[in-house]
Amino acid sequence: MSKKIIVVATGGTIAMKYDPQCQGLVPACSGEDLALAVPGIEKIAQLGFLQFSNISSATMTPQNMWDLHQKVEELLSHDDIDGVVITHGTDTVEETGYFLNLLHTNPKPIVLTAAMRGAGDISADGPINIFNSVKAAASDKTIGIGALICLNDTLYSPTDVMKTHSANPATFAAPWWGPVGYVDCDRVIIRHKVEGEKRFAPKKLTARVDIIKCMTGSDRSYIDFAVASGCQGIVIEGFGRGNIPPAMIPGIEDAVKNGVAVVITSRTLAGRVLDVYGYPGSVTDSRRVGAVMGGELTAAKARLKLMIVLSEKPELAKNQIQLEALFDL
Ligand code: ASP
Repeated sequence: MSKKIIVVATGGTIAMKYDPQCQGLVPACSGEDLALAVPGIEKIAQLGFLQFSNISSATMTPQNMWDLHQKVEELLSHDDIDGVVITHGTDTVEETGYFLNLLHTNPKPIVLTAAMRGAGDISADGPINIFNSVKAAASDKTIGIGALICLNDTLYSPTDVMKTHSANPATFAAPWWGPVGYVDCDRVIIRHKVEGEKRFAPKKLTARVDIIKCMTGSDRSYIDFAVASGCQGIVIEGFGRGNIPPAMIPGIEDAVKNGVAVVITSRTLAGRVLDVYGYPGSVTDSRRVGAVMGGELTAAKARLKLMIVLSEKPELAKNQIQLEALFDL
């Protein structure tokens, strides 16, 4: 008997068509219309459908991601449902995928997919991406390896993947790590698994976390603004190994004294933040005043992780060592 896979549609270009009045692509198709139009998909799995939303992925919020997480886990708790495919916009699918993965403990697969071309465009990539994602979700190979992102025949871990080109259908890549596998005509192939990612179980999403991107010449002003605006955490996207302009350090010191967690990430595409330098603005300096090294995560993913961590255990904002152990894996 074939497996049962639910297609949960959230929106994105995959579900958009050109509207002459708006002079651009706009949401136009349901997930059910999209999936049922894919030739041969009914031979892969028995399908069910849920229209969660129909929005561009720039409209997605952490609260939407939380609501999606609850919906997906509820679906997966049913014995007769074997996996979920989520259609999404490419702009932020790496964030939603990462968020869902941090909360996903059920071994059943969640596969997120998207498209760079609209549903009415020449050579639209949505149909093949949906087809491959259903294949991946219905494969025994993807059981127990967390959420996956599937585009262009390729399977990625949400931890490593990023959108690297604003228009090309081969936009997704996992710099330095590569894909975890791919979907071939006859089978799904998994080559490696991502080790060590922790899972969390907050009851609600309560923590606000802001991102501050360093510029040459940055000072403490945006940090002060974020603290005054009531955030519980700040992710600072620094340079290289996580070094930041020295004029930001007093702002970090005051933020930490006020109970706000500060996590340092890097604008490089890969590699860890590390305290290898000792000069003003180095990670040695920001750690000295209470900041936490953010490991290998992009600022966007570190921000979602910090929201989840502080929603589960707000007291960790005041525990540099324990918080760092969750990020610098
Ligand atoms: N702007 C679109 C979105 O993320 C891009 C896409 O889906 O490819 O919703």
